[in-house]
Amino acid sequence: MVGWLHSGGSTYRWKLTVRLITDSGPIDIRVECPMTENHPVKPQGGRHNLDPHLDRYAARTAGMTASEIRALFSVASRPEVVSLAGGMPNLAALPLGTLSTQVAEIIAEDGLVALQYGSAHGIPVLREQICEIMALEGISAHPDDIVVTVGSQMGLDMVTRLFCDPGDIVIAEGPSYVGALGSFTAYQADVVHVAMDEDGLVPEGLRAALEDAKKNGRRVKFLYTIPNFHNPAGVTLAVERRAEILEICRTYGVLVVEDNPYGLLGFENQIYPALRSLDPDNVVYLGSFSKTFASGLRVGWVLAPHAVREKLVLAAESATLCPPTLNQMIVSRYLSTHDWKGQIKIFQENYRERRDAMLSALEQQMPPGCSWTHPDGGFYVWLTVPEGVDTKAMLPRAVTARVAYASGTGFYADGFGSRQLRLSYCYPTPERIREGVRRLAAVLESEMDLVRTFGNVKSRAISGPESPSPDTA
Ligand code: PMP
Repeated sequence: MVGWLHSGGSTYRWKLTVRLITDSGPIDIRVECPMTENHPVKPQGGRHNLDPHLDRYAARTAGMTASEIRALFSVASRPEVVSLAGGMPNLAALPLGTLSTQVAEIIAEDGLVALQYGSAHGIPVLREQICEIMALEGISAHPDDIVVTVGSQMGLDMVTRLFCDPGDIVIAEGPSYVGALGSFTAYQADVVHVAMDEDGLVPEGLRAALEDAKKNGRRVKFLYTIPNFHNPAGVTLAVERRAEILEICRTYGVLVVEDNPYGLLGFENQIYPALRSLDPDNVVYLGSFSKTFASGLRVGWVLAPHAVREKLVLAAESATLCPPTLNQMIVSRYLSTHDWKGQIKIFQENYRERRDAMLSALEQQMPPGCSWTHPDGGFYVWLTVPEGVDTKAMLPRAVTARVAYASGTGFYADGFGSRQLRLSYCYPTPERIREGVRRLAAVLESEMDLVRTFGNVKSRAISGPESPSPDTA
């Protein structure tokens, strides 16, 4: 029995009436459990009836809200719905037979290590291999400065925990990764968005935001940026802008947090120089095996300036004691025995085929007034719809028409994004992508008709960034 009931001036923890239907008519049985000292009176109200712990939550939970697509997920994940909402990597090309043999070998040969606690820092051999991977982007790092994490999401959480007090500002691209916004909100940081164009973050916008914060006496803790194949915007920071952005951050004394899970997924196998390679002392770099190997293993890493690394290890210890040893060993063995670069090429080709399917379908199907980005790597296209259409209000209608997307407001901390939406091409087949875009175009057409007839179609006000979920990740 959930809830707290008042009745006739007396207070009960709960009260139940059961009606028995007997041969001689109905009999009501009343069961009452009055308040006692051990079970004091709780505040009343519908929300308390739903969650009796409501008064106990920390203030920092106030901004935590579930993503709208999570709410729609049970419908959106039905096979007849084409989901262009999720950011799930397409793992079909992985060598599952080889991997299962390797996992069995690890346990047979080294099981007592693989199944044991390890160090919060991560296993040394994997940290060395991570250095080799990052060298591809021009990063020269020592394995001691890497902390292995449970996905880069944990890295984001730890970095925010280490640097942000309530009310500090984090600068992020607008739009930005929903999971990062969730971490910033959880630590009560205020997010200030800086606009992007087709070349990524706009340096003048960054300078203006920092100047503004300075004038208002606000503390900016770091710039959070996804320079390559942005989630959700699908754009890449131009190489010519990289040094300038780093210089601006140095001038204003602001740290840079570079989140780069998609950097090796360029469709021409192009690799951009990491921000970390250009300014090792002022950049914390977040990496992940989620998009280049297997997201379910939950293995990522943080590369931090030496002094920060000490604190990160302590934060990691208090969060998880250590990252899973078996999973680290699986990743390590895969890297040392498998042609992982060849595997990444296969992923690139799969994603490029899907990107092509989406862009040509958009070109053919989208009504006039829509525009979208043209990613050259990664998973996402960012679509802008005509004035008056609200993508959040439109989402239930799209799901009814058997297509799902992630509406733009979830990617902003400040309520922007109602004219935008994110389309993911990573997971569905090209045929499904074409069908999904066709359905979306039809929904948009009828939405635009509605707007022409009745004016704006508004969604309910949003309360802040939404929590990440695998379906919107
Ligand atoms: N950063 C970005 C930009 C992402 O898109 C994601 C997941 N989609 C993450 C971080 C988290 O990835 P993971 O925890 O799986 O490494």
